Amino acid sequence: MEHKLHIYNTLTRQKEQFIPLHEPHVGLYACGPTVYGDAHLGHARPAINFDVLFRFLKYSGYRVRYVRNITDVGHLENDADEGEDKIAKKARLEALEPMEVVQYFTDRYHNNMDALNVLRPSIEPRASGHIIEQIALTQTILDKGFAYISNGSVYFDVEKYNREFRYGKLSGRVLEELYSTTRELDGQSEKRNSFDFALWKKASAEHIMRWPSPWSDGFPGWHMECSAMGMKYLGEEFDIHGGGMDLMFPHHECEIAQSTAALGKETVRYWMHNNMITINGQKMGKSLGNFITLNEVFSGNHPLLEQAYSPMTVRFFILMAHYRGTLDFSNEALQAAEKGLARLMKGLSLLGNIKVSATPGYNPDEFEKKLFDALNDDLNSPMAIAHLFDSLKNINNLVAGSETITAKDLEKLKSLYHSFVVDILGLMPQQESHDALLKNVVDMILNIRLEAKKDKNFALSDKIRDELTKSGIQVRDSKEGFEWEIV
Ligand code: ZN
Repeated sequence: MEHKLHIYNTLTRQKEQFIPLHEPHVGLYACGPTVYGDAHLGHARPAINFDVLFRFLKYSGYRVRYVRNITDVGHLENDADEGEDKIAKKARLEALEPMEVVQYFTDRYHNNMDALNVLRPSIEPRASGHIIEQIALTQTILDKGFAYISNGSVYFDVEKYNREFRYGKLSGRVLEELYSTTRELDGQSEKRNSFDFALWKKASAEHIMRWPSPWSDGFPGWHMECSAMGMKYLGEEFDIHGGGMDLMFPHHECEIAQSTAALGKETVRYWMHNNMITINGQKMGKSLGNFITLNEVFSGNHPLLEQAYSPMTVRFFILMAHYRGTLDFSNEALQAAEKGLARLMKGLSLLGNIKVSATPGYNPDEFEKKLFDALNDDLNSPMAIAHLFDSLKNINNLVAGSETITAKDLEKLKSLYHSFVVDILGLMPQQESHDALLKNVVDMILNIRLEAKKDKNFALSDKIRDELTKSGIQVRDSKEGFEWEIV
C-alpha cells in the first residue's frame, strides 16, 4: 500500500509519514466526553476532526478500529486528584443515581453526534465497565516500582519514573519546572510530590461510586481509563491517539507515563491534538457567560446567537479551519459557513444537470490529485474545501455547455465530488440533515412525554401523543420508552 498520508505528530513535533503497525489495520483512540452535562462546541471539534480522520483512513483502504471512550467515573473537579467526582456531584444535585446521569447525557451526546453526522466509533467503552483492567494496570505499575501506596490510595511516582524515562516529553515540560510551578505540599498530603497523580483513590465515606481493590474501596484515577482501555482494545502498541490540546497535560502526559512504566515502552505511535474553539476571541467558560451547548447552537437559544445554526453548518464551519489552527466562533463566521455550505451542496445537485459530449474536454484527474494531496497533508480540510469551491466554476461551465466532458470523465467527477463532500467530509445534503433534525426534535418531545407520565401527568402525555398523531407521527410505548414512525 502506498503511504501518502502525513500527520503532525505532537510527540516528535513534526509531520511524519503515516505507516500503520499492522497493515491494513489501524488502531485509533480518541478521548471521549465526561458525561455530566450537555456537549458544547468544544466537544464538536475533536469529534468531527477524528471522524474525518476515521472516514479518510477507511476511504484510503485501511481497516480502522476506532475506540472513543465515555468517562463515567474518576474525573474529579478541576481535573485534580482531590474534590468531588463530576458525575457524582451532578447526581447529588439532581437526586439521581450516577448511572442515570451517565445514561441521560450519553444519549444526548449521541443525539448531538448523530446530528453532526459523526460516525459512531467501533468501540465505545466506559471507564466504569473496566475497573478490573484498571486495577490490574495499577498493580503492574506498583510491581515495576513506579507507584506507591499511601493511606489506601495509589500514586504514580513521577520523580522515580523521570529518572528512567522522561516525564513531560509530550507537553515539553521538564520536572525542574514542575517543582517550581506546582504548589508546595502542606505536610498533610498523601503524595510525595504535588505533581504525583492518582492511579487509585480510596473513597471517602460519602463517595458513592466505589469498587473493592487490593488497596481500598475506591475508584480509579482519571488518566487510568484511557491507558487501560486503549491497551485492551488496540494492543500494547497502537497507531494513533487523539484528543484536544487541553488534554495534552496532564491527561495524555500521564497516560504515556503509565503505559511506559507498565510496559517499558511507548504505546502510541502518533499523537494528534486539535486546537481549541474560542468564542468571539475569548476562551469558552461557564463563568464568562459564553458557554454554548450544541443544542443551543442548533436551536439558536442563547443570548450570543443571532439565529439557529444547523448541525451541518457547524460541521462545515469546523472543517473550514485546519484542526491544529485556532477557530473563533462568531455569528459572522457561522453565517459565512452557512452560505459556503449551500454553495457546495448546490454543486452536488448541479452535477445531475451536466450533459455529456463525445468531445473530450474537462478532465478531473488534476482535481482528484489536489483533493487527495490536501487531506494527505495532515488532513488539510480547508485546502480540500478550497479545491471543491474551485471546481464549481468548471461545474457551472459544464452545466452551461461552455465546457465539454465525456461520459467517463463525468462519472469520475460526480463520484469524486460526492465522495469528498459526503463520505469523507461527512457533509450531508440538507434533506438528510433535516431528517436528523426531525429525529432529534421528535425524540425530545417524546422524552418530555415520558417525564410527564412519570409525574402522572397523563393529560399532558396523552395530548403530546394525540398532537403527534395528528401531524402524522405514530407513537408506540415500548419497554425502552417509546418507538415512533411517520405514517
Ligand atoms: Zn483520555
